[in-house]
This record gives sequence, structure tokens and C-alpha cells, in this order.
Amino acid sequence: MAGGFFGGVHPEYNKELSRGKSIRVMPLPEQLTVYFSQNLGAPSNAVVKKGEEVKKGQVIAQPGGFVSTPVHSPTSGKIKSTGFYPSPVGTLMEAAVIIPDGRDEWEEGCDRERDTAGLTSDEIKDIVKEAGIVGMGGATFPTHVKLSPPEDKPIDILILNGAECEPYLTSDHRLMLEKTEEILEGASLFARAINVKNIVVAIEKNKPGAIEKMREAVEGRDGFSVEPMEVIYPQGAEKQLIYSITGRKVPAGGLPMEAGALVQNVGTCLAAFEAARLSRPLIQRVVAVTGSGIKNPGNVLARVGTSFRDIIDFCGGMTDDTAKVISGGPMMGVSQYSLDSAVNKGTSGIVLLKADEVAQFENEPCIRCGRCLVVCPMKLNPSALSIFAERMRYEETGEHGVADCIECGSCAYVCPSKRPLVQHFKRAKAEIRNRSKKAG
Ligand code: SF4
Ligand code: SF4
Repeated sequence: MAGGFFGGVHPEYNKELSRGKSIRVMPLPEQLTVYFSQNLGAPSNAVVKKGEEVKKGQVIAQPGGFVSTPVHSPTSGKIKSTGFYPSPVGTLMEAAVIIPDGRDEWEEGCDRERDTAGLTSDEIKDIVKEAGIVGMGGATFPTHVKLSPPEDKPIDILILNGAECEPYLTSDHRLMLEKTEEILEGASLFARAINVKNIVVAIEKNKPGAIEKMREAVEGRDGFSVEPMEVIYPQGAEKQLIYSITGRKVPAGGLPMEAGALVQNVGTCLAAFEAARLSRPLIQRVVAVTGSGIKNPGNVLARVGTSFRDIIDFCGGMTDDTAKVISGGPMMGVSQYSLDSAVNKGTSGIVLLKADEVAQFENEPCIRCGRCLVVCPMKLNPSALSIFAERMRYEETGEHGVADCIECGSCAYVCPSKRPLVQHFKRAKAEIRNRSKKAG
């Protein structure tokens, strides 16, 4: 069994609420709010206007650079409006509101079966790029960029990330059980694109069913193996996963390719399979809808652009005492101020919590207990970083490595003073970025 990076925590996982629930396909909602930019990196640029008719799979936003992706319409219909709308990241984002025409009619060239056996590395990368595929574990980094390492950074291992270490979330778990072959086909395409022969499926051992299913499925597939991982948060963070599997360290500020590794979420592998084999761009995803505040927890296949309100209604609605709705899991997710937020390519879950489960952040002073230091998987000093950030001494947060913070929330989880540590680090990073932009 693999595992064993520095730090980490053992939160209550609470996955039993939805892990046994098969994926249900959500019907088309009455309207979809599709953000024009859905990736980490350069924002994409809208190419449609109010009043235009669109087809399912039609490009509605073009990439704004190499580290960027196109966005496609999730159905056929009419653009009712464009503008700025609430988004899962907590800000207003530019989007198109699409009213489906009910025909769900594909754009010419989409939804055609293709023989993938003869695809070259460049063809696979182009398909992935044109399909708008991003990291679906939540990071939303453009996948074609990960498949294009410079020649001096050869990759010799592909790790399929099925750790799903965030509490509550179960969408990857269900995908591994229900879309096993498709995930492995997608992984084979990634391996061919970067000429890698060693493919490891990494799954935390609290998903024995998925481990067994994957083990059966990799039998007879050259180069594939399944690695059960120690259950510890954040096992699924890229750098921690690479270290757990290979013992290699990604240098501070570096990318996984600098440790000779490529990590792809299992949902991203499925998206690659659908793009290559079925000529379908990324327009839908599985979302775990869970927590004590949802009446009928489960895993839902929803179109990108479906509002949280519609998904919650589809799952029976929320209980009267729900106090918090989170996009993502409780460790790394973002609390929602509006249920008009819509699913984007990185929405792995919607977690609804009752008041007694919601930690109240009172921002008490740091009592220098040192608990955060021993759990930080990046070996940072969250206490010092938070004090610098609180005093707006952002330069010092930079000197103390805030850029290496993976925002996993382990420090905040153990902090007895309930300090909003991750919020401090996010703000410090944003300030540093803004200052360096201004400095040119
Ligand atoms: S400082 Fe960042 S990386 Fe370290 S535990 Fe806190 S959130 Fe995680
Ligand atoms: S865990 Fe909280 S109180 Fe303890 S040292 Fe870290 S920031 Fe301070």
C-alpha cells in the first residue's frame, strides 16, 4: 500500500451518504448558465451573442491563449442573454444564459464514433484541446498543456488520480465503478500522447469496490497497475500523490512534469475517451450532491451550466435547517452565496451542511499551539503566514512560501482558534499576483 507524505489530517469522511448511489442522469433544465471561462490560465473569449441559436457541442468561447480551452454549448437552443452571473468561485463571472429548445441537436461533426487505434500523439493532443478538457478533480488546468511537456522534461509515469480524499465527495468513486473501461481507454490515450508505458491507478483504500473493479479491468492491459493508497487528507493533491507513488518530490513552485510524472483525474480520463471515441466535447460531468442538508443524496450526471438550485431540487431539495452550501468538498470548497451558481467543468460536488456541522470562524488570535505546522503537507508555517497576511505584510508571506500553499485546508481543520487560514493565504497570493502585474 502506498502513502506517507509529511503532514495531513484525518477528517470525518462521511462518504457513506452517497457512495452507494448509482449515477443518475439529470433531465435538461429550463435554462443553463454557461460561464465563458472554465479553466485555470488565460480566460476564454465569448464568440456568441444574445439571440443567437446554438447547437449542442458548438463552441461558444474560444481559448484566450495556449493555457486556455474552448467552451461548448451543452445543448441546442437560444442565447437568452449574456452578462455577469454568480459563480461557484464566489465572484460574478461572464456567462451565456441558454434556453434549451428540447431537441438536444448536436453540432455537425460531433457525436460520431471514431476508431482511436491509429491516432497519433499530436492527434490525441488536438482532440483533447478542441474538446475543452480540463482537470476535472477541481483544478481545471487545461489537459492539453499537461500533455505537452518540454523535451528536457521527459515523463515516465502516468498516475490516474482516483484518491478522492475530500470528505463527502463520491463522484470519482462512482465513475470508477460505472465507467471503468472508458476511464482506462482514456488513460491509454493519454499514455500514448506522451509515450509513457507505466500507468498507475491510485485509489484510497476506503474504496475497496473501486480497487477490485479496477484490478479486474487492468488485467491483461500492458503497463497498468492499481495502487491502494493510505487514507489521509490530502492524498489526492498532485504533489502528495506523486510522492506517495514514486517517492519523487516536485520542486517548490514546480510542476509534476519536473518529477517525471503526469497526474490525471479519473473523470478527465473519461472526458478524453468521450472526446476521442465519440467526438463529444466536455459538456457534462458527474456531481456528488451530498451532506446532511440534502434530502436525497446521490451522484448526478448534469450538463455544464445547470444551476445548483435545479440540481438540489432534482435531489429532493434541502432540509429546512441547512446552513451552508459548498461547491466542492468542505476542505477545499467554496461556500455559496447564491443557488444561481451553475455547474462548471470543475464542480465535483455540492455539499449541504446543517448548522451544527458548520464550523463558525471567529478569527481568534493565534495561540501558537503549533498544530498547523505538523499537518501542513507542504511543510509551511501557516501560523506565521496568517499573521503576516493579517497585517497585510504580503511580501513576507511570499518570502515564507505562500505560493507553495496548495490550499488544502489541513491547517484550518486542526486550528483550535478556528482561524480562516486558507482565506488569508488566498488573499495573500492574489495580492502578490496583482503587485507583480502592476510592476509589469
Ligand atoms: S498552509 Fe496551505 S498547504 Fe499548508 S496546510 Fe494550510 S492550506 Fe494546506
Ligand atoms: S493551529 Fe491555529 S492557533 Fe495553532 S499555531 Fe496554527 S494558526 Fe496558531
